[in-house]
Amino acid sequence: MDDLTLLFQRAAELAAQHRSGLAEAPVRAAVDAATLRQRVDTAIRDAPTPAGAVLEELVSAFTPGLVATPGPRFFGFVIGGALPAASAADVVAVGWDQCAFNAVLSPAAAVAEEVAGGWLKELVGLPADASVGFVTGAQGANTVSLATARHHVLAAAGWDVERDGLPGAPVVRVVASVERHATIDRALRLLGFGTSAVEEVAADRNGAIDVADLEAVLGRGEPGPTIVCLQAGNVNTGACDDLRAGTALARRHDAWVHVDGAFGLWAGASPSKAHLVDGVALADSWSCDGHKWLNVPYDCGFAICAHPQVHAGSLSYTASYLTGQGGPTPALGDLVPESSRRARGFTVWAALRELGREGVADLVDRCCTLAQRFADGLGAGSVEVVNDVVLNQVLVSFGSDARTDRIIDGVQRDGTCWLGGTTWRGRRLMRVSVSNWSTTEADVDRSVAAILRVAAADAEQTPAD
Ligand SMILES: *Cc1c(COP(=O)(O)O)cnc(C)c1O
Repeated sequence: MDDLTLLFQRAAELAAQHRSGLAEAPVRAAVDAATLRQRVDTAIRDAPTPAGAVLEELVSAFTPGLVATPGPRFFGFVIGGALPAASAADVVAVGWDQCAFNAVLSPAAAVAEEVAGGWLKELVGLPADASVGFVTGAQGANTVSLATARHHVLAAAGWDVERDGLPGAPVVRVVASVERHATIDRALRLLGFGTSAVEEVAADRNGAIDVADLEAVLGRGEPGPTIVCLQAGNVNTGACDDLRAGTALARRHDAWVHVDGAFGLWAGASPSKAHLVDGVALADSWSCDGHKWLNVPYDCGFAICAHPQVHAGSLSYTASYLTGQGGPTPALGDLVPESSRRARGFTVWAALRELGREGVADLVDRCCTLAQRFADGLGAGSVEVVNDVVLNQVLVSFGSDARTDRIIDGVQRDGTCWLGGTTWRGRRLMRVSVSNWSTTEADVDRSVAAILRVAAADAEQTPAD
C-alpha cells in the first residue's frame, strides 16, 4: 500500500477509536485550555516532519482537550453528533478536496448541494423552487438572509443598496421578537443596520412571539421597507412562533419575512411535530442548521430563499477570470458570501440518505421524547421545570440562581453528562438540549441520576440558599 493510503487509514482508525469510546468516556475534556496550551504551545520546528509522525503527534497532543460533544450525553447549547454515514462522507470529501464554488470547478460538489438541498426543502416543507446556499451555520444563514431581505426591500423602494450602500437610503424597519437569537443582532451589525434598528415585539410565556404585539408594533410605524424576523425553535425553550399568523400580519405591511429555524425548522420533517411550524412555507427566507439536528459534521447551515433571483442579486459577483457565475440560474457561489468554500453537500446527502424520510422524522421525535423524559425525571426529583417542553429543549431551576449555577458547575465537573446554563426571564437556569442521534433512554436516565446526585450533595452542603 502506498504511503497516502496508510496515512488515511491510520487517520480514520484514530478517529473511529475516539468516536467508539465516546459512549463511556467522561463528557468533559480531560484537561483545560491553559494546561493544554502549556503542553502544546511550542516553537515551530525548523525542519519538516514526516506526515505519519505529524498525525501521531497531533492526535496525542490534542486528544486530552477534546469534549465529547458528538457523544450521547452532551446536552449543552444545541449540538448534534455527526451520523456515521455523514462522518464517512466528510472523510471522503476531505480526500477529494473540492472547492464548492460552482459547477465548473466541481460538478460533484455543485450537484450534491442541489440534490441534498432539494431533499432538505421537501422534508421540512419548503417550496421546491427555493434557492439553498450552503453556509457555515445559522449565523451565516441569518446574515445571508437579512442581506437578501435588505436587497429586496430597498430595491422595492427604488434604492440599489449593493451599489450605493446605506448612507442616504430609506430607513428599513426590522421587527423581531425580544426572544430572537443573538445572531440576528450580529447579522444586523454586519449589514450596517445596527442593532438599534430592531423594533422589539413581546413574547408569550414560553418565548414565542406575541402575535397581538406584532400587529401593534407593525401598525405603529410609517409604511416603508420592512423586514419581519420570526423564529422556529427558541434556543432556550424550543418554542416556535406562530408562523402563519406572523407572516399574514407582515404581508399586510409588504414586509419581507425571515424565519430563523436553526434547529426548529426540522419540526417540519416530523408528522407529529409539523404543526409547530404550520405556515412555514409562506415566508421569504429561512435559516437552518445541518450540524445541529440533522447531525452532520461541523460546519453546515442553509440559507434558503423563496426568491432565487433576489438571493443571487444580493450576493453574486463575477470577475474576468471566472466562469460559471452570475448566469440566469444562480450557481452555488451566487448564494453564499464566500468564494472558495468546502463542499458541504456530500455530508448532507449522506445524512439524508442514511436516515431517509422516516429516519429524519424519527430523529426529531426521539429527541423530543427524550427531552420530555429529562423533564419528567428531573421533575420527579423535585426540580422545577420552567418551560413547556414543546420540542427538544428543557429549562430547569434548582431554586436560587446561585444554587443553579453551583449545580451546573458540579454536573460539568462530574463528567457523566454536560449541560450549560442560561439566563431566561431574569433567572439562572440549566439548559437541556437533546439533539444527538445516538442518545438513548439509558443516557437520559443516567444523566438525570447524575444531576440529582450533584443537587443532593449541594443541598447537604448548602441547606439554606
Ligand atoms: C444555534 C442558533 C443560531 C446560530 O447557529 P450557528 O449554527 O451556531 O451559526 C441561530 N439561531 C438559532 C435559533 C439557533 O438555535
